[in-house]
Amino acid sequence: MTRTDRRDAETDRRLWPLVGLVVVCAFFAGIVALYLVAGTMTANVTDLASTATLIFLVAVGFVVKWHLRIRSTAHAISWCETAIVVGLAVAEAPLVVLCTGLGVGIALATQSLPRIKAAFAIAKNMLVASAAGIALHLLDWRWPPDDLASMVVPLAVAYSVAVVLDEMLTLPVIALDTGTKVHRLFLDDWSLRVASALVRYLLILGTLSILVADQWLLVAIPPLILCVHLAHAGQARARADQQAWQRLARATDALNVVDLDKVLSTAAVQAAELFSTNLVEVELNDPARLVQGNSDGVRYDGPPTTAPTARMRTIVALPLTGADSEDSTGTLRLCFTGPVKLSEREHYTLRTFASALCTAVRNAEAYQKLTRDAARHAQQAAQDALTGLANRRRLMEHGAELLGRRHAEGITALLLIDLNHFKEINDTLGHAAGDEVLIQVARRLSAAAATGDLVARLGGDEFAVLLTTLPAPAIATHRADTLLATICEPMELDGMRISVEASGGIAIAPGSGGMAELLRRADVAMYQAKRSGSRIATYHRGRDTADVGRLALGGDLPRAVAQHEFSVSFQPIVDLASGEVLAAEALARWQHPDRGRLDPRRFLETVERSGLLPAFADAVLDQSLVAAATWAEAGFTLPVAVNLSPRSLLDPRFPSAVLARLRAHDIAPQQLILELTETLTISQLEVVDQVLGQLRDAGVRLALDDFGTGCSSLSLLSRVPVHELKIAQSFVLAMETSSEAVAVIRSTIDLGRSLGLTVVAEGVESEPQRRALWAMGCAAGQGHLFTRPMPAHRLLTALQCGSDGRPGVLASPLHDEGAVIHLAQSRRAAGRGRPEMMPHLPA
Ligand code: C2E
Ligand code: MG
Ligand code: MG
Repeated sequence: MTRTDRRDAETDRRLWPLVGLVVVCAFFAGIVALYLVAGTMTANVTDLASTATLIFLVAVGFVVKWHLRIRSTAHAISWCETAIVVGLAVAEAPLVVLCTGLGVGIALATQSLPRIKAAFAIAKNMLVASAAGIALHLLDWRWPPDDLASMVVPLAVAYSVAVVLDEMLTLPVIALDTGTKVHRLFLDDWSLRVASALVRYLLILGTLSILVADQWLLVAIPPLILCVHLAHAGQARARADQQAWQRLARATDALNVVDLDKVLSTAAVQAAELFSTNLVEVELNDPARLVQGNSDGVRYDGPPTTAPTARMRTIVALPLTGADSEDSTGTLRLCFTGPVKLSEREHYTLRTFASALCTAVRNAEAYQKLTRDAARHAQQAAQDALTGLANRRRLMEHGAELLGRRHAEGITALLLIDLNHFKEINDTLGHAAGDEVLIQVARRLSAAAATGDLVARLGGDEFAVLLTTLPAPAIATHRADTLLATICEPMELDGMRISVEASGGIAIAPGSGGMAELLRRADVAMYQAKRSGSRIATYHRGRDTADVGRLALGGDLPRAVAQHEFSVSFQPIVDLASGEVLAAEALARWQHPDRGRLDPRRFLETVERSGLLPAFADAVLDQSLVAAATWAEAGFTLPVAVNLSPRSLLDPRFPSAVLARLRAHDIAPQQLILELTETLTISQLEVVDQVLGQLRDAGVRLALDDFGTGCSSLSLLSRVPVHELKIAQSFVLAMETSSEAVAVIRSTIDLGRSLGLTVVAEGVESEPQRRALWAMGCAAGQGHLFTRPMPAHRLLTALQCGSDGRPGVLASPLHDEGAVIHLAQSRRAAGRGRPEMMPHLPA
């Protein structure tokens, strides 16, 4: 049996050692045969005729081939062994060996085969003849046999030896040539090969039986063989075709996947196997991508390159186009290192494969796009478009998943963050600036968040951080502190430096209620933080109901404004030394029909967040000026201090509205003190400068309320020129126990003195406090010691009654008249007995 296969120069080089060995062995076998033949051969006609017949038989047996493919490699099974074994049965083995060499050589002369191939074919068949001859000799073969039955076994053995040796010599060569494993080659089509060997063995037996019976019957043999050959060849072709289609079907089936990477790698491997190529390239046009591979797998996957194909001698390229359009998706290339010509069927197979590949690539690309789109949509649905942070939905889902875990690691908490006065930035600097602030806050939070924490924007100026794997609840406060501190750092905005303040509420994951409850609790805590003026508050169940009520207040606001439910109480500001009333601070109250009298801490935030602040502020100012006018009419010309929401300062129309009100009530601007709370955010804005400038120029007094509680008191003071500083009541309350509070009070008083500002202490509740404040140089104060805030008419009555029969005085003097007072150093330096509510401004 001989097989022809595709080979290339490189494989030829690798094959040479094996072929060389076979040739050398065959050469020695030939020499031995020649020696033996030379001793026995006579040059008679019969011998020459039979020799010629033998050579002819081998040549014909070699040329007439039965073509089949093992995998994609073309194989041709010849009748050569059949001729050899028949020859060995009737003639001397050495002669048959020589005739085989000659017969194959003559047959090869008609074909233009490479030398290596020709040498291998001759040598291999001579060795096959030698081995089969030896086998027959060992089995004591005699011709003609005594009876037909005695032929069966020796011929079977000799033929088996011939077939097996042929396989043993051929398969390694094919394996080397095609890069396939020998055992795989052996298993391929083995049933077909065994069947064909059996048929040919029976033919050998038949031929020899005829020869034994009557030589003339041999005439019938060639037609018989031809019939068998044709029948067999047809069947084999049909089977080969069937197998080829099956392979194609399997290959195209394998392409039927949605993953583009898998499609391309499968295409490379399948095409390499299908067409026995050295390399397969699948190149895609958009995006440009090249996948190279062979039957062992993918060799390269990346941008197009020509490197490995440079040494290929044959490249068969086919565009990847579908039946419906001319546009090609890419190109499929079969690369061979040797010269190769594809058969018609292979061309057809290639076209079918390329078309299937094109469809598979398009499907995979479409699927990839769909998956990408789906992922993008999913991400968009879970992402805040402006900041790229997770959105509320994602936070809720992620949180729910985390809380639902049975063995969650550590404690989970939620920090809810609300930027203070964000609306002002938006309203004055525009939405672009507001967006920029939100983006910067998002960036800072993301950078400061611990691994595993989820930062989300819930909407507007509300952010949330899901704090995970906390070892203890207290750590939540620590982490929240760090996160809020990063927000409060000043940020650059259109060349301006702005500080954003924020309040945070922390809630530890509850046992039940899930994320919705956790979020609600964090929200409650956040409003507690806002109300108490602290940066962070942690949720406490006990304080919950009040907050729920506060949240509901927002809905009642429009009615409150329309129904004039807001009123103003007044708290006098008195001369600490004499007890004389110097001014009165207006403090808003809400007379809620259901909840009773509400103090500002409970509703101010809601008012500021609603659009009703201007109406509210106007109502308070109006009532305050009405009160001041009433007192003035009664002979008490007292300045009235009105608290301002920072947002009011962002309204450019605010100064004219205030001045119009003053005119309406015929009150001098100097009689109005506007108390500002420290918010660096607004103090950095130009509009605030303009608003405050206009008010100051008109004569309105400005006071900095709760001085010392914000993180930016001093820098604020340098920017906003005010007339008065108000020491926050928290310091006054703590002055008896805290030396730090005393230090703050003292430095505020010193600062006020050096800038020429009036200093008013808030929250004076006791005589010792009053005395100590006075001793430190503070001239004025307000607090429960003197009176609680009260309606305007009651304050008027109190003023009229006075203390110790002195109208306009609400407390007995610190010192008896005529007493000798030993002033403290600072007190002496203050140099004023009575504070000015309208002091001179610093230059
Ligand atoms: P504030 O301007 O610092 O006002 C002083 C607060 O201290 C008032 O609380 C007052 O009742 C309270 N207070 C006075 N003396 C004492 C004392 O001896 N001990 C203690 N513990 N507290 C004392 P109130 O009325 O609840 O006002 C709270 C804050 O609400 C005010 O702080 C002010 O910032 C704001 N506010 C009040 N009315 C208005 C308003 O009409 N507009 C705006 N924007 N804010 C207002
Ligand atoms: Mg105030
Ligand atoms: Mg205050």
